[in-house]
Amino acid sequence: VVTDTLLSVQDVSVHFGGIIALDGVSFDIPAGQIVGLIGPNGAGKTTLFNCISRLYNVNSGDILFEGKSILQSPIHKMSSMGIGRTFQNLALFANLSVLDNVMIGGHPTGKTDYVSNALHLPWTRREERELRDRAMSVLRFMGLQETALQLIGGLPFGVQKRLEIARALMSKPKLLMMDEPAGGLNHNELSDLVATIRKIRDEFGTTVLLVEHHMGLVMEVSEKVVALSFGKKLAEGAPREIQEHPDVIEAYLGTG
Ligand code: ATP
Repeated sequence: VVTDTLLSVQDVSVHFGGIIALDGVSFDIPAGQIVGLIGPNGAGKTTLFNCISRLYNVNSGDILFEGKSILQSPIHKMSSMGIGRTFQNLALFANLSVLDNVMIGGHPTGKTDYVSNALHLPWTRREERELRDRAMSVLRFMGLQETALQLIGGLPFGVQKRLEIARALMSKPKLLMMDEPAGGLNHNELSDLVATIRKIRDEFGTTVLLVEHHMGLVMEVSEKVVALSFGKKLAEGAPREIQEHPDVIEAYLGTG
């Protein structure tokens, strides 16, 4: 089946004990679009993000990627299936070089959890050469080639945020999920981020799902915005419609 929808969230509910974090949420992410997911604190954005990346199970509903349910797929298959993500709290290895960190993002097993030091990198020489070339080209794409041999630990926060994106690009995701990419960035870094997100979509055709509190950035870069509040979808549509939507305005004003 040829479909223009890359990811379909269908009537998804998630409970944590008595807390209903998501309550029958449905929306589609069209292939090739940049989609923003917004909502006040506690709205369920991170929970939904974690469901799509298979960190959390859903209580009911379904999530289809390219028309097929992903809910039976294990988390370590996500990256080879084409779903990549960045983390709000950077998931970089401080004691490894920039290049090694980015290379880890492209390792075919996707198993990064046991890599704790540079002496035990889990790849063969041929894989290593291929990964290194790919990592250098991703670093060039992100304008970070100069940092390749530096240790992550000493780099400015804004550079580390870009590296988090570079690492996610190594798996050549069809869907790139970005968890608060604007958090902690300064004014110049924010405009670089807008350009970077657009460039990723335009050059690789990557579909982007953005969870973000920075309203200006979401509204500038997204073609479609989905608004959540208290676990329910309030509205979805073009940025302008969402900004003017009375329920969305009320949800934000209501929680201060
Ligand atoms: P924020 O913008 O503050 O990150 P959010 O929109 O991402 O908020 P979630 O983190 O998804 O919201 O939280 C939705 C609700 O689910 C909240 O009431 C939260 O306390 C609850 N929740 C989220 N994760 C868990 C968990 N692992 N265990 C228990 N409750 C959870």
